[in-house]
Amino acid sequence: MVENANLACHVMAKPTGSICNLDCHYCFYLEKEALYPDRKSAWKMPDDVLSAYISQYIESQPSDYVDFLWQGGEPLMMGIEFFAKAIELSKKFSKGKTINHSIQTNGVLIDDNWARFFKKNNILIGISIDGPPDIHNTYRVTRSGKGSYQKVLSGLKTLKRYHVDFNILTVVGTHNVDHPIEVYQHLKALGAKHIQFIPLVEEADLSSIATNDNMLTHHVTNWTTPSLAYGEFLTKIFHKWIREDIGDIFVQVFDSTFATWNGLPSGICVTSKTCGHALALEANGDLYQCDHYVEKEHKLGNIKEQTIIKLNRSAQAISFGESKFSQRAQNCKQCRYEFACYGGCPKHRFIADNNGNKNVNYLCDGYYHFFEQTAPYMNAMKDLLKAGYSPTHMKTILSGSREAR
Ligand code: SF4
Ligand code: SF4
Repeated sequence: MVENANLACHVMAKPTGSICNLDCHYCFYLEKEALYPDRKSAWKMPDDVLSAYISQYIESQPSDYVDFLWQGGEPLMMGIEFFAKAIELSKKFSKGKTINHSIQTNGVLIDDNWARFFKKNNILIGISIDGPPDIHNTYRVTRSGKGSYQKVLSGLKTLKRYHVDFNILTVVGTHNVDHPIEVYQHLKALGAKHIQFIPLVEEADLSSIATNDNMLTHHVTNWTTPSLAYGEFLTKIFHKWIREDIGDIFVQVFDSTFATWNGLPSGICVTSKTCGHALALEANGDLYQCDHYVEKEHKLGNIKEQTIIKLNRSAQAISFGESKFSQRAQNCKQCRYEFACYGGCPKHRFIADNNGNKNVNYLCDGYYHFFEQTAPYMNAMKDLLKAGYSPTHMKTILSGSREAR
């Protein structure tokens, strides 16, 4: 056990585990059913786990603000009653802290009752939309294989009718990576003010392939975004955003990159110096190091047996997080953008470079391209900030107006 009383953690709670009402082709979490073979009959987070989670999580947070994030699987399959109970418990255990809840959902179950409930309880909703219908429906399909776009759109419209705060999460893969502007315009047209782009990267199952390092280099699933194309996707959107939308629309990766340009922490784990402490809670109380590492060897324990504080401060949790930095690839140590990236997510470090260095991030080419192309703008925004102006002045400057200030 390592003594460090200040280690903060975030927990992503999965009250349905991997159970979901959609069957998105690319969902890595659906496979987690294999970890819990009896899940089909007992998949809901039981009351004792819910209660332990709420009280322990509030206790584990060093600040006066506590953010609960509910994810899945599909969390809305728990029904309103579950979340009403969660809110009730979080008030009971709050100890005067301010509690916020947010739910990441595929959106298809949202109706008037849900929207009323979200509004009443000030719950922030993250909704997954990959672009216009033809793009979204490529992989995000129902259990019967039909595209889910219309149902999602109906859910989103309901949220808007009730003025529920929402953000949009867009997974970037082969289905949309070549259509950055089309995707971005669509999200804008839907009224998105906060957007997250999540790159889709998954190593293909290599069990039937000979173990040969050269062969391992590029075996990814067919929905995995090509690396450079991902960087180009972000860059093209960035150019549009900085000219039209900076200050009005918040794109997480742009904000986090700009933070690192100013010597601040990135704010997202994949580009932070170290990671870990972004834990994932399964429905039965099992706590894992990360949503991307819900695997036997990365289980920290169960919160019915040990507290979140204790599990988060365990040597296992700490060394996992620190290894993001200590085990970064050689090319990252010499990279001019190391400060903005730190080798990306360890889950994506499965290729070797031309010199035979291993542990290289599959997305490196894309990241590098994005940093290189946006660096002049990041530098200019940093200069504006230093001079006491808002970086949003970039919009005016780039439009050629003389009224830059
Ligand atoms: S393993 Fe990847 S996704 Fe998980 S906390 Fe680390 S950087 Fe984030
Ligand atoms: S851009 Fe590539 S080399 Fe540079 S820090 Fe990121 S992953 Fe490493």
